[in-house]
Amino acid sequence: MKITMGDCVACGACVSVCPCKSITIEKDENGFYMPVIDAATCVECGICQQSCPVNDRSEGISWELGTYYALWAKDGQQRFAGSSGGAFGLLADEVLAQGGVVFGAAYSDDMKFVYQTSTDDVELNKLKKSKYVESYTGDVFTKVKAALETGRKVLYCGTSCQIDGLKKYLKKDYNNLLTCDFLCHGVPAAGVYEKYINNLEERYGKPTSVDFRSKAYGWKAYCSKVTFASGKVYLKTRFQDPYLRMFFENNVLREACYSCKRLNTSNADITLGDFWRVADMDIPDTNEGISLVGVHTQAGKNAIAQLVENSDCYAKELPQTAYTYAYNRKTSKPDDRDAELEKIVKQKNLFKLSVSLETKLRGYVYWIRSIVQKVLMK
Ligand SMILES: Cc1cc2nc3c(=O)[nH]c(=O)nc-3n(C[C@H](O)[C@H](O)[C@H](O)COP(=O)(O)OP(=O)(O)OC[C@H]3O[C@@H](n4cnc5c(N)ncnc54)[C@H](O)[C@@H]3O)c2cc1C
Repeated sequence: MKITMGDCVACGACVSVCPCKSITIEKDENGFYMPVIDAATCVECGICQQSCPVNDRSEGISWELGTYYALWAKDGQQRFAGSSGGAFGLLADEVLAQGGVVFGAAYSDDMKFVYQTSTDDVELNKLKKSKYVESYTGDVFTKVKAALETGRKVLYCGTSCQIDGLKKYLKKDYNNLLTCDFLCHGVPAAGVYEKYINNLEERYGKPTSVDFRSKAYGWKAYCSKVTFASGKVYLKTRFQDPYLRMFFENNVLREACYSCKRLNTSNADITLGDFWRVADMDIPDTNEGISLVGVHTQAGKNAIAQLVENSDCYAKELPQTAYTYAYNRKTSKPDDRDAELEKIVKQKNLFKLSVSLETKLRGYVYWIRSIVQKVLMK
């Protein structure tokens, strides 16, 4: 069976497995990562198709069978450094303390793309926080396998489709591997993200950090914060910032995200997300971030039990139905998505895209509400 480009998630399993190194990941005309096969070196062995998670996806574990927690780091810095409650940072610290290695997504030095890497090459802080763009995997799975074969403990955190790709590539279970995915709204095109950073660079100079989950207005306010070598700080909420607007309007997401195959199942040990139902659960609502942690396997259970035992976090077990709390799980494809995407791809300056009066007003109200919420929760 051949995969169609509309199904491809660019997990990179094919790149990692190809014995001839004939497959690379390039950007297509809309800026999405796609595998490209070099016909001159390809020997048509078919191993890439056998390793593709789209062709033969494992069933995964039903969310209904999970155990769920609202969890947040006791340490304020750890919590602040995460998109929600800092659960990923806590799990990572545990693995590093055991001499292990942690894989996740980091920004490139020039901030223009996001790629999968590990704590063997970058510091842990660079892997923290949600990057709202598809991450370039390249042949990262070969590095995960190499680390696993040495017997080191490995934590791999990525999208559910990257976990599918990794498992398909590895072919067997490793008891020194802990995998973590997250609730995922979908991933925007790498090319659109790059254009956004280029547009900002034209205005303010070299960017030095990007944060799509800045807590400057508190955790509950989606807000993009970009800092520049010049000292300038760009800070805009979700209706004011063109990139966050496009992300939430669903016009720049990868085709496969609109028919996500992991809406009710996971192939990972642990699933992370934002826990928004704070008010219903008798949890102190400080607007600093709380993670929803879904545990699917014994390895996941052990990892969370370890965090609780070390008293690194507050964890409140939630009712079994907590998986239904997942926010925004079904991302629908807007009827005019293809036309809107074309407009976005053609537009050289994303800050010049037209914004309706209604969105402008919503942006203003959202901004004021975020400030008030932040002040009241101090
Ligand atoms: C594109 C995207 C969409 C999301 N959509 C939702 C949603 O709809 N609902 C919801 O509840 N939560 C969503 N999340 C997850 C949420 O934002 C938090 O990441 C999660 O709650 C964990 O937070 P944390 O504080 O525990 O850890 P964090 O420190 O935030 O850890 C995030 C982890 O995700 C990895 N990561 C970040 N960006 C990427 C990327 N682009 N590709 C692969 N791995 C990445 C990081 O390396 C790190 O391991 C999304 C995350 C991303 C990246």
